Amino acid sequence: MEFRTASREAVDVVIVGGRVAGCAVAIPLARAGRSVVVLERARFPSNTLSTHGLFPGHVAELDALGALGRVLACEPPLGRRFDFHLGDVHLVEPVPSHLGFDYGICVGRPQLDMALVETARDAGAEVREGCTATEVVHAGSRVAGVRYTRASDGREVSLGARLVVGADGRYSRMAEFFGVGRPYRTSRNLRGFAWRYMSDPRRDEPARFIISRGRTVAMVGPMPAGLMIVATMPPVSDIGWWRKDANAAWAAMLAEHPVVVERVVGATVGEDELEACGLPASVLSCSRLTSFFRASTGAGWALAGDAGHFKDPTVAQGIRDALRHGRLLGEIAASCIDVPWELDRSLAGWEMQRDRDCISSYHWANRESRFIPELDVVFGKVLKSFQTPARDGGLLADALCRKRRPEQVLDPRRSARCLLQALAEPGVDRRRLLGIAAGEARAEIDLRLERRSHGFRNRGPTASERPEAVSS
Ligand SMILES: Cc1cc2nc3c(=O)[nH]c(=O)nc-3n(C[C@H](O)[C@H](O)[C@H](O)COP(=O)(O)OP(=O)(O)OC[C@H]3O[C@@H](n4cnc5c(N)ncnc54)[C@H](O)[C@@H]3O)c2cc1C
Repeated sequence: MEFRTASREAVDVVIVGGRVAGCAVAIPLARAGRSVVVLERARFPSNTLSTHGLFPGHVAELDALGALGRVLACEPPLGRRFDFHLGDVHLVEPVPSHLGFDYGICVGRPQLDMALVETARDAGAEVREGCTATEVVHAGSRVAGVRYTRASDGREVSLGARLVVGADGRYSRMAEFFGVGRPYRTSRNLRGFAWRYMSDPRRDEPARFIISRGRTVAMVGPMPAGLMIVATMPPVSDIGWWRKDANAAWAAMLAEHPVVVERVVGATVGEDELEACGLPASVLSCSRLTSFFRASTGAGWALAGDAGHFKDPTVAQGIRDALRHGRLLGEIAASCIDVPWELDRSLAGWEMQRDRDCISSYHWANRESRFIPELDVVFGKVLKSFQTPARDGGLLADALCRKRRPEQVLDPRRSARCLLQALAEPGVDRRRLLGIAAGEARAEIDLRLERRSHGFRNRGPTASERPEAVSS
């Protein structure tokens, strides 16, 4: 098939969005000798609304892309331990070894994304900053390029391509241009996110990740340059309060998590270090975190990263998935881009593979986004049950690190055992807890049925989902 384009400039692949997903798609394509242009409206280094807990599954993907050396050059402390807290239960686990990596890191997005952009450029991709895609160009029924505006001179430019990838994030305009702006399945978040960066008074101690759970969830991670991130996931209704009176909300969060107080005693805002890393001194927050899947492939186009699928960040898996499935998309496209029908078929296969890999985390995130106090009684038992991991094989942190799927970590036998223990606790409303447990069992069954049926573009809803009409 002859490729008709609306411009004189034409390349093999145009990617719109130049952060984790966009660079992950670009790197293997460029390495395979394909001509690749990445259009990014921001200028790097640049921050974005995201925290950045990166565990072995993430680190392995940075390595697979050849970007890990650059990321480690920022000298992030290598966190080799998780501390999980719930009330008076404290579980310490080593970061599980997975795919050859046994540490996690926290690198701010300005540095992380810059490392990926530099790796993409080294591979031969052209990353054009300050360029905003405004339209898609068609050739018959195929997508065949984009139009974009250049901030430097305000000019509109056309660029033809055999494949156009939207890697432009959750609110993807590219998805709208491809006609798939409305996700086909969604789940409303019940937790929001608030976080800040501080100087780390314990920077000389071995690095560890703290996750403390209650009405709010709190997380502390060590960062380069003697900084740390302190993040919290309160019920989403609290985010207005965080925006109005961050100091009061911060104090209330600390009052709930003594372990975080202990960790931040002596911390300062560390403005100089923050400025050096391109990070703000203010508290950041986010309330709109609806999980979704969009149809992500079609004739001559694909959506990578958050543009195609987003899950509640409570489980910190988005960057891993954007990197992994971006890279796989790039590898697949590199091998068949010359034959349009083969390209389209392979893209559909890639989308199925992405969904199969992400579906468990999607359901897990939907469930972790809620706060049901009765379930925390059961979760306290779960934490205790992992204090002797050898008997059951595996760690609680395996799911965070993508070593095992969440349903393999919390298998039905363990869940039932912990439920029975919780029911035996004095003061527990047994009727209510059993009702909640029945809902949880339905969510487990739905997930397992969905995994077994491999339903492509399954519209749900399943018991973990709280559907919401979302436009892009
Ligand atoms: C609050 C929060 C906390 C999170 N915490 C974690 C975590 O701890 N660990 C984890 O793994 N994941 C986390 N995530 C998820 C993670 O941030 C995302 O999954 C990841 O950023 C997705 O990368 P992306 O490249 O798909 O999209 P993005 O990072 O959103 O990048 C999209 C890019 O596209 C560009 N763009 C958009 N429109 C255009 C256009 N028209 N033309 C040109 N460029 C355009 C934007 O400027 C942007 O740079 C978190 C997310 C949130 C919201």
